[in-house]
Amino acid sequence: MFVLSANGEMISTDYDDDSSVITFENAEDTEWRCQACGESLSEESDGYADESGSLVCDSYDPYEDPEIDDVQSAPDFREGPHHPQRVPLSWANGATIHTDPDEDSITVTISVGDPRGAFAFTVRRIPDDALDNGGRLIMHTPYPGEPLPHVELTTAHTGTYWVG
Ligand SMILES: [Zn+2]
Repeated sequence: MFVLSANGEMISTDYDDDSSVITFENAEDTEWRCQACGESLSEESDGYADESGSLVCDSYDPYEDPEIDDVQSAPDFREGPHHPQRVPLSWANGATIHTDPDEDSITVTISVGDPRGAFAFTVRRIPDDALDNGGRLIMHTPYPGEPLPHVELTTAHTGTYWVG
């Protein structure tokens, strides 16, 4: 039996044909959050707006504004803009681990683009009775120039790619 765990905790899985799938979905759909007031922000043409549509931050503090060198010229307290910060992991739709005894393989998928697709990384064993390489492990990874890629990849250096 294959045991899956997340952050050290064992995870129970449904065993149909002994293959198991575990999926992490990103429940956070916000890409930006205000460092000062904590509100979810959306990127607008004229700045970052909170959920009420306001570009003004109730927690604005001119002394904490990294854009301002001279506090004299800064907006007053509570009158400046939100301070957007990227929400960690908001680039991911989710990730899945799939162990498949029939294929003798483990596939990890990570979705960062179209949520219907994902990058897939698979390690599997070639069957012992194969003509060539029987019993060896082989790894499949996404690669630049792949047909129908999840997201286009560009080589940074061997084994490392820029995504998109
Ligand atoms: Zn704010």
